[in-house]
Amino acid sequence: MVNARGERFVDEAPATVDATYEAITRQILTQPGGIAYAILDARIEDVPGWRRSVRSDVAPVTAPSIAALATALSIDAASLEATVAAYNAACLHDRPFKPLETDGLATRDTYAPRKSNWARPIAEAPYLAYPIMCGNCFTFGGLKVDPGARVLDTDGMPIPGLYAAGETMGIYYGTYTGATSVLRGAVFGRIAGLDAAKHSNRQHSVTA
Ligand SMILES: Cc1cc2nc3c(=O)[nH]c(=O)nc-3n(C[C@H](O)[C@H](O)[C@H](O)COP(=O)(O)OP(=O)(O)OC[C@H]3O[C@@H](n4cnc5c(N)ncnc54)[C@H](O)[C@@H]3O)c2cc1C
Repeated sequence: MVNARGERFVDEAPATVDATYEAITRQILTQPGGIAYAILDARIEDVPGWRRSVRSDVAPVTAPSIAALATALSIDAASLEATVAAYNAACLHDRPFKPLETDGLATRDTYAPRKSNWARPIAEAPYLAYPIMCGNCFTFGGLKVDPGARVLDTDGMPIPGLYAAGETMGIYYGTYTGATSVLRGAVFGRIAGLDAAKHSNRQHSVTA
């Protein structure tokens, strides 16, 4: 992954994607224009079902050479060629490529920034690129609730009749536990709904 100057700026693969995408995305935000480009080559086809991991319905930019790819991306061609050459030379080839697990296939230690897994040379045309920008998956914040999904006031007391579930309730404050957001919404939404219905029925029967 390179920035708009055609330079690598981060270890793209320090661990599994779900554990690291948030931190890497923050690095993208600090780059010129807040944009980065994932550069791939024809051997991406070795990764089973790789297209399913691309959250875009826009086709990648493709080109027969790194220089042509750079031109299509409005990146300085000499810079991108130098980056790819340096990266390729740093690939160690010392163990098998295992795309579905962290394989430890890294670049050599003297090269920075290191790539810790899945480091294979980018050398087979056609070359592909996807532009990448940041988006908000979740807020890393929200209303404080008790285990009953009741919203707490600043003294830690439940506010009567006020519940929060899903995105509005926070829980995550730094590292995201992969793929748990919908579960969070379902679990606390059900708890909140049951409790709210219980109170609503009680009120209804009192009124009746
Ligand atoms: C790109 C991306 C990938 C994700 N991947 C995963 C994943 O793999 N696994 C996972 O578990 N989670 C994932 N999440 C997170 C997950 O999608 C959300 O946490 C979850 O959908 C939140 O559900 P919610 O009901 O709390 O909020 P939302 O789905 O945001 O629902 C809120 C609803 O309220 C409506 N609304 C807003 N304001 C008003 C108003 N004033 N009046 C009436 N309606 C209003 C909105 O239109 C919306 O329909 C992902 C999120 C993103 C963005």
